[in-house]
Amino acid sequence: MDKCPVCCTSFLTVQPYEMWPPPAGLPIRPPYRDYLGQPSYEVCPRCGFEFGNDDDPGTAPPVSFYQYRAEWEAKGRPWFDKSVMQE
Ligand SMILES: [Zn+2]
Repeated sequence: MDKCPVCCTSFLTVQPYEMWPPPAGLPIRPPYRDYLGQPSYEVCPRCGFEFGNDDDPGTAPPVSFYQYRAEWEAKGRPWFDKSVMQE
């Protein structure tokens, strides 16, 4: 399983972007497809980040991994999909 860059758990079934992990030292900003290629559109069951959508929503400002993580932690780190809850 691949590790989520937002919450650092390993519940992803596929890598989040075509080029993964990002090359060391590459400064990346959302939308990440510009740097990392095709997103998976998978939703992380732990934090709920959707690769390719949350960082490139089209109708709203893009959210970075860092921003999303801060907001998710502020909400008390809720499980997005409780059916895979292991903690
Ligand atoms: Zn996650």
